[in-house]
Amino acid sequence: MPNRRPPFTMDCWNKDWIVHGHKLVCRSCGASQCPATDEPFRHTEACAISGAGARYPWRELNDILKEGVAESRRMVH
Ligand SMILES: [Zn+2]
Repeated sequence: MPNRRPPFTMDCWNKDWIVHGHKLVCRSCGASQCPATDEPFRHTEACAISGAGARYPWRELNDILKEGVAESRRMVH
């Protein structure tokens, strides 16, 4: 398995997560997490994504948004 590490792309992040109100939800198992916590995301036991190891989706999103500012400016016409 390739050693995938941040920064992820927004497309990649969107495949795994969705933001519902002010909670972040795993698309695979429907577990959710509040932005206030700094713990790894807790999936349900049956979740396919959880096998990839601990993830910090809020941090990932934060990194993507920071890294992506320049890129999204290019993409917006
Ligand atoms: Zn999950």
